[in-house]
Amino acid sequence: MLPLRKNIAEMAGYIPGFQPQESGWLKLNTNENPYPPAPGVAASILAEVGQDGASLRKYPDAASREVRRIAAELYGFDPSWVITANGSDELLNNLIRAFADAGEEIAYVHPSYSYYATLAEIQGAKVRTFGLTDDFRVADFPEKYDGKLFFLTSPNAPLGCAFDNAYIAELARRCAGMLVVDEAYVDFTDTNALELVREHENVVVTRTFSKSYSLAGMRLGLAVARPEAVAALDKIRDHYHLDRLALVAAAAALQDQEYLRQTVQKICATRERFSSGLAQLGYRVTPSHANYVFASPPDGNGKRVYDSLFKRKILVRYFSDPLLSHGLRISIGTDAEMDATLAALKEIG
Ligand SMILES: *Cc1c(COP(=O)(O)O)cnc(C)c1O
Repeated sequence: MLPLRKNIAEMAGYIPGFQPQESGWLKLNTNENPYPPAPGVAASILAEVGQDGASLRKYPDAASREVRRIAAELYGFDPSWVITANGSDELLNNLIRAFADAGEEIAYVHPSYSYYATLAEIQGAKVRTFGLTDDFRVADFPEKYDGKLFFLTSPNAPLGCAFDNAYIAELARRCAGMLVVDEAYVDFTDTNALELVREHENVVVTRTFSKSYSLAGMRLGLAVARPEAVAALDKIRDHYHLDRLALVAAAAALQDQEYLRQTVQKICATRERFSSGLAQLGYRVTPSHANYVFASPPDGNGKRVYDSLFKRKILVRYFSDPLLSHGLRISIGTDAEMDATLAALKEIG
């Protein structure tokens, strides 16, 4: 027996969404973007590699200064309020390392992103979950929540509802510890919580390049937080966490906001078309502020429809959790992909 820490030996580990390596699948299970990233991304990566890859001999800028400067300017903050990361998952991980000791408590909304729980288990932190009410409020949230961190996924995954800033501000006041607003999908809706970072000492906003920026394969994220929090996260991270290609890709993606706007607009239009198509088939669809919809077939049997789609090589996300097993989370692809999905659902019945 290896002398593993007890909680590592006992924990199950996170199971990410299925990533088939062979082609032929219509992949609507991990909220990837159907469109390519901004044209400047590939161009800047090729330029960075050059003919012979000579630039790769040297370490990248450990402080990601250029990307932080661009992001800070875009969001209207001083660069000391911004940190970049190897996917927003790295930030969620390091926030727990920075704020929650073994035995201390973190919390999140269930259903949302259960990876918070896995990250907390690694640390040996305690995990508490809060439900959602029918009108999408956090159920039974204490007047003063004294856990070290509370993760609020907004827009929520997998349901797609978003929380307004007045409500998030109220939660921030009720949190004695940090409130982390995980805005992985925020570009697909019309509000965001960045101004709350300025107004509330305990609010951190995390973002990812994996969804709206079409860069899941590059592993890029960022957070906006007080300089003291950014400094703490800088101490914890691997010093060269972002490679040279990721750095130039992030800069190019952030610098083409017009491309982002167009891509997001297409996806939101497809989402609305697809949602009405589902409703016509008798599905119950939660109104979505993200690049997926959560939808339940008339018989409330998510697994049956998942299996039938799987046989047709259409991959969506099914959760066996009793709160979610009545439906499916379906990522929004192109119009043609969603029409093919609707046609398959009609056949399946
Ligand atoms: C996709 C996702 C992430 C992870 O983003 P990465 O940048 O790819 O690590 C974080 N939170 C939520 C809610 C997500 O859906």
